[in-house]
Amino acid sequence: MSDKGRVGIVGAGLGGVAAAGLLEKAGFDVVLFDQAPAFARLGAGIQFGPNVIKILSTLDGLAEKLESVSCLPDYWVSRKWDDGTVMAKIPLNAERERYGAPYITIHRGDLHQAMLNCISPERVKYNHKLVDFTDDGKSVTLEFENGVTEKVDFLIGSDGINSRIREKMFGYEAPLSTGWIAHRAIIPGAAAKSLGADLNAKWWSEDRHIVCYYLDRNEDEFYLVTGEPAEWTSSVGQLPSTRDEFRAAFKGFHPMVQGYIDATETVTKWPLNTRPPLPVWHQGRTVLLGDSCHPMKPHMAQGAAMAVEDAAVLARCLSEIGTSDLTHTFSIYQSARKERATKVQTISNANTWLRQPEDPYWCYGDNIYDLTIG
Ligand code: FAD
Repeated sequence: MSDKGRVGIVGAGLGGVAAAGLLEKAGFDVVLFDQAPAFARLGAGIQFGPNVIKILSTLDGLAEKLESVSCLPDYWVSRKWDDGTVMAKIPLNAERERYGAPYITIHRGDLHQAMLNCISPERVKYNHKLVDFTDDGKSVTLEFENGVTEKVDFLIGSDGINSRIREKMFGYEAPLSTGWIAHRAIIPGAAAKSLGADLNAKWWSEDRHIVCYYLDRNEDEFYLVTGEPAEWTSSVGQLPSTRDEFRAAFKGFHPMVQGYIDATETVTKWPLNTRPPLPVWHQGRTVLLGDSCHPMKPHMAQGAAMAVEDAAVLARCLSEIGTSDLTHTFSIYQSARKERATKVQTISNANTWLRQPEDPYWCYGDNIYDLTIG
């Protein structure tokens, strides 16, 4: 038991896992809950910029491990949808020293597992769906669907865009449909290579795009993820799709893109939802991070990055300011994070990032450990 207090974290996505790892390292008695029956290796890729890798490098061996298995693209390339004209070529690892850490592209499941490995396994409790909680001013009592009740000194809500914790704090509000979806698929790296794939590229038309990158150091897997206008009528958060549906959505795109789509086997589709910026991120002994307080369209590849940045700033505030006046500590955390998270949310939703030449230093060069807290 730690004298720094027992922290309940609900939601073991990338934000919650980062918070658990950083707070456990800082000496807090952490318990991390998730509704899922067990860890699942989601079949998708993710990009993590130097701003996040600087944070992950504070967890023992994690950044080295990720760098050794991930793809390290030198550049981000923006291409025109039909003839492949290069619209922008932005340095990523080509300017690694300037940004202060590498830029990685990786399988989401491998990233998630590597981050989970930084937490003591007995601190992670699956099959715990939070249904309610009560703050009595001294502690928070958590109630789970499985009948379990747990008492913690304070609660971190990292339970994603449909956050139960946010709903309990501020009332129910449905997420906003953006009218866009994402297709996702992984194809063999060899198929991408035979077509002359860039390491990391986005092909843009006026109303849709496809982002394509390798998921591993050996370039064995190549990932396709899109943004495209389409209605979403289902209540579930992902559905199976087909190669034909994917092909129809990208009709007329460059032959390289057509070749990628022809190589797909399993294709899924996801709705892209968002919410307006949340004015307040905390209440009493409860505080939010990540998609629970600032979900966004994924077009900057920084949604999970912002969740991890939140986790790191929150861990610093709790360690450096303390837990005796949580309203004060949480308000310092919110003021340190809100402007940057809202800026990223706004640019991400507008889908303009790196379409034309621009310097991404303000985003990738940032280091949350340079912040003055308090
Ligand atoms: P989530 O990942 O949503 O995790 C929430 C967790 O809470 C889940 O594990 C869930 O099971 C659990 N949970 C929910 N409710 C309860 C409950 N009541 N009780 C217990 N547990 C609960 N971001 C990047 O940084 N880089 C990228 O390249 C990138 N690409 C993306 C591509 C697509 C197509 C999409 C849709 C998003 C992308 N993002 C990317 C954004 C990123 O996925 C999200 O911003 C990020 O996953 C948010 O993390 P989180 O931890 O806040 O929430």
